Amino acid sequence: MGYRFPERIAICGAGVMGRGIATACTLAGFPVIVYDIEQAILTAAKQEIEKNLHGAVKRGKLSQNEMDKALARITYTTDLRNCTHSNFIVEAIIEDRTAKLELFTQLESFISPHHILATNTSSISIGSLQAGLQHPERFLGLHFFNPAHIMKLVEIVRGPFTNEMVVEVAQNLCDKLGKRSVLVKDVPGFIVNRVARNFYNEALRIAEENIASYEVIDQLVKSAGFRMGPFELMDLIGIDTNFAVTQSIWEQYFYELRFAPSLLQKQYVEAKKHGRKTGEGFYNYR
Ligand code: NAD
Repeated sequence: MGYRFPERIAICGAGVMGRGIATACTLAGFPVIVYDIEQAILTAAKQEIEKNLHGAVKRGKLSQNEMDKALARITYTTDLRNCTHSNFIVEAIIEDRTAKLELFTQLESFISPHHILATNTSSISIGSLQAGLQHPERFLGLHFFNPAHIMKLVEIVRGPFTNEMVVEVAQNLCDKLGKRSVLVKDVPGFIVNRVARNFYNEALRIAEENIASYEVIDQLVKSAGFRMGPFELMDLIGIDTNFAVTQSIWEQYFYELRFAPSLLQKQYVEAKKHGRKTGEGFYNYR
């Protein structure tokens, strides 16, 4: 089975990550199609991608003409079939195994076996997703970091059934995107998100125990050299997504206490205070 280097990229899910990945892909010269279930989300995604590119112009990284061309390379759709025009599809929908598998099942009914399917999941086992696919050999994890058009690292996750040529195409794609790719094993949370669980969870526990406020914890961590504090970072990531990732890693490690999610974080999720994307999280952005 031959797998070709992508001529265009399709991105399923136009949330925090889909927007950043689309920006990175168009900046590297790829035609991009962005799919989501609601037109309103696509409209917001278009605005944010425009803002990302305006930012690059302001910082002198891009000319006005290049920005116009980059914007013209992106199309938006609520019709999943339009993604089949691309031979490389990156899924960046909610962190939910069932939702992801439903999407892949639909996609597999339209696409040929040489299309490559990649998931941006932060924590879900690639093998468990492959188990639900007709063609698991063309599937892998391609884990970008937030903001995806700025952060250089991408974890490439080879599942138990991933074809070696698919890994090679993904590595070449990351090179073309100007990313630094690292091949990692298919374990819960891969490497970075497993390490990062303690960063978020301990900070949440310190706040729960009333030892210090979100602001103080963030300030201290930044004074120690981190670029962002844990609460600022959870607001950027999306508290709902961060909570789903913690829960997923905790479950996959057989409920080991060291990965246990925080009740405080759950309360923010339930109150729909999801961080920047909803206008309020640990901090207020309105
Ligand atoms: P998000 O909540 O910002 O966006 C998810 C998007 O998926 C929404 O626009 C929603 O409308 C859409 N969606 C939901 N169901 C869909 C479906 N069936 N078909 C198409 N679209 C659907 O989430 P996000 O932060 O962009 O995260 C997306 C994925 O990327 C998750 O798997 C997450 O774990 C991973 N990830 C997130 C971050 C981060 O910092 N936020 C970093 C790396 C990886």
